[in-house]
Amino acid sequence: MSLPIKISVAKGDGIGPEIMEVVLRIFDAAKVPLEYEFIDMGKNLFEQGFSSGMTPEAKASVERNGILFKGPMETPKGKGMKSINVTARKVWSTFANRRHFKSLHGVDTVFSKAGIPIDITIVRENIEDTYGGVEHMVTRDVAVGRRFISRAGSEQVIRYAFEMAKKEGIKKVTCGHKANIMKMTDGLFLEVFYEIAEEYPEIKSNEIIVDDLAMKLVSKPNEFQVVVLTNLQGDIISDLCAGLVGGLGFAPSANIGDSISIFEAVHGTAPDIAGKNIANPTSLLMSGLMMLRYFGMMQYAATIENALLYTLEQGIHTGDFGDKNIPSKNTTDFANIIINNFGQQPKKGKAKDIANIPTMFKAPLQPDKQKMMASVALEKETIVGVDLFIESELLASEIAEILKPKLRQGFKLVNISNRGTQVWPTGSKFTECVNHYALRFEARKDAEIEAADMFAFATVLSSKIKITSIELLKILGDKKSYSLAQGQ
Ligand code: NAD
Repeated sequence: MSLPIKISVAKGDGIGPEIMEVVLRIFDAAKVPLEYEFIDMGKNLFEQGFSSGMTPEAKASVERNGILFKGPMETPKGKGMKSINVTARKVWSTFANRRHFKSLHGVDTVFSKAGIPIDITIVRENIEDTYGGVEHMVTRDVAVGRRFISRAGSEQVIRYAFEMAKKEGIKKVTCGHKANIMKMTDGLFLEVFYEIAEEYPEIKSNEIIVDDLAMKLVSKPNEFQVVVLTNLQGDIISDLCAGLVGGLGFAPSANIGDSISIFEAVHGTAPDIAGKNIANPTSLLMSGLMMLRYFGMMQYAATIENALLYTLEQGIHTGDFGDKNIPSKNTTDFANIIINNFGQQPKKGKAKDIANIPTMFKAPLQPDKQKMMASVALEKETIVGVDLFIESELLASEIAEILKPKLRQGFKLVNISNRGTQVWPTGSKFTECVNHYALRFEARKDAEIEAADMFAFATVLSSKIKITSIELLKILGDKKSYSLAQGQ
């Protein structure tokens, strides 16, 4: 790819334009070979009636250039619009969200004061999980959300974590999960983690349950190097890590995909300080440095990073951090000081001195259709039953009684559960129920069942019960495709 590299730039909302303006000025002062194509995305676009929060020209620019450098953006609340930030990550398949948290001299934290350095990278799955936002009110007072974890999606993000560790000489990758409770979803993520780990024998791999991870991150943070997690858990854990290194002002992030990647700060639009020229541009600047390194522009990144680190070491700070006895700088002055400090070397902890490498980045080839990611071949899939989810204010034993006369077609009512806890045929009288049950029916062992038989069966029962949804029970290969109810 020839230089300069053309990137799409969206300044964002709130403090976005202020911090983007100074970051680009720092890049220009360092003569970084980038060309900017400014695009319209964010709050104003929603208000102008663009339901995706961007103009068609903005979409075309990102899909042509393959790189979006963005400021934080606001999605209007309560108008049913989906977050522009999440939409951008999802529609452009940026499957890995990489967030780097490193102690910075000049940014005091509990850990820096105790002499414990922190250098943790969180790689968060960026597309799936509950962020699909597929939610339904299944009764008037029960809401249900679907959680998607796929083998292909897990493979992409976990492979990225190991590849990144290999390239950067990192010795250990940890998988954070909750597979002890969510055996199908987190269980699949963990299974894929160990499959991929085998391809990287030189890197140590281990696992940790996410609640234990949260505790260990605040008690022994330097035990971790790279942690890969599913989307929601990764989101929460990465904010926790931001707290370890001084807050959101020091948390950069890259959303990496095979064709398109997005670089942005972790923080939001900070409406409380917008327009005052007092925001801290460090997080966006550090996200920009991740972008320069992604392009192989190591020397440019090192020059800017060393100037930033030197500036922080001198006690220079914006109003959100630093020594309160030293007057804070506004956004513009903070950036100007960084520019003036080009060529200075920080005393403690310099940027890695690596020569520029030829960029591997390529603007995306324009696909003519969406891509179906490969799935594992399956020897056999057998339908063995069905879960019928129903709305009812009856007790489970009353529901079972009502259904008895209808159950002559080779299906057996195996159990009834409420909020995932079995309440029939056995259970505890202390289990409190809501008006949404799962009825599990299994077919006779020798029956050859098709999906249509299950739908016909549900139709017969629907005269007696109010069905809200149906899920088939299958054996995939030799594994059950469904979880058991608590107490079953
Ligand atoms: P926020 O990150 O905007 O602000 C939280 C607190 O941190 C505020 O007190 C703010 O002043 C401070 N802060 C944040 N960034 C700062 C900076 N660079 N310098 C100094 N102080 C800073 O979070 P929020 O208030 O929950 O969200 C505000 C808006 O931002 C919402 O509309 C939200 O949806 C959006 N948001 C966008 C993104 C994104 O674009 N990726 C991420 C998070 C939130």
